Amino acid sequence: MGMNIAIDGPAGAGKSTIARQIAGKLGYIYVDTGAMYRAMALHLLRGRILPTETDKIDEKCREADISIEYENGEQIVYLNGENVNGLIRTEEVGNMASASSPNPNVRRKLVELQQKLAADKDVVMDGRDIGTCVLPNAQVKVYLTADSRVRAERRYKELTDKGISCNLDEIERDIIERDHQDMTRELSPLMQAKDAVLVDSSHMTVEEAVDAVIALLQ
Ligand code: C5P
Repeated sequence: MGMNIAIDGPAGAGKSTIARQIAGKLGYIYVDTGAMYRAMALHLLRGRILPTETDKIDEKCREADISIEYENGEQIVYLNGENVNGLIRTEEVGNMASASSPNPNVRRKLVELQQKLAADKDVVMDGRDIGTCVLPNAQVKVYLTADSRVRAERRYKELTDKGISCNLDEIERDIIERDHQDMTRELSPLMQAKDAVLVDSSHMTVEEAVDAVIALLQ
């Protein structure tokens, strides 16, 4: 087994930024599992499926072939052969991902893919259930969180920097709603694994959070 670092936590806690930097510093592969749920969500949205249509989600999910490749260290997600990296970062896709991720067939399919990626490789994997379900034997487990207002402010800055106009209160409401959905679902809800270390990044720089996780390896 390679070295596995599992990072879980709520939306906007900085998981992907931190995981990507750790992977870069250590020469590990960064596996972004949220991107896989987002690719599945895009497939469902394209099929005009509503989050509540459980039967249709099952059927649609079967025809979605999701695979991962790495190009220059960047994770590329393919949905039925199409590179969808540029299409999955919208709020609409994120919300659909959260609504469809409780589905057992969606999870089974994606967890299998994630476990295959981590077998025999050094990986930093981020998501909601990595330490609890996907990689229960990971050598390092982190539960990365931050105050919901701080998370909303970071997201707000990211969007306004890209020239997208948005509303801070609305973003915070969205984040709280998504966390609630992810924490209260029946199957592999978001929670801190018993052996995970809690890192609250509310008052930390990215660099401090990265160093805090790397320090756990020693
Ligand atoms: O992390 P990201 O915002 O890209 O994840 C989108 C959604 O995918 C989450 O809100 C969650 O519902 C789902 N997800 C999950 N398990 C993971 C990663 C993401 O259920 N390991």
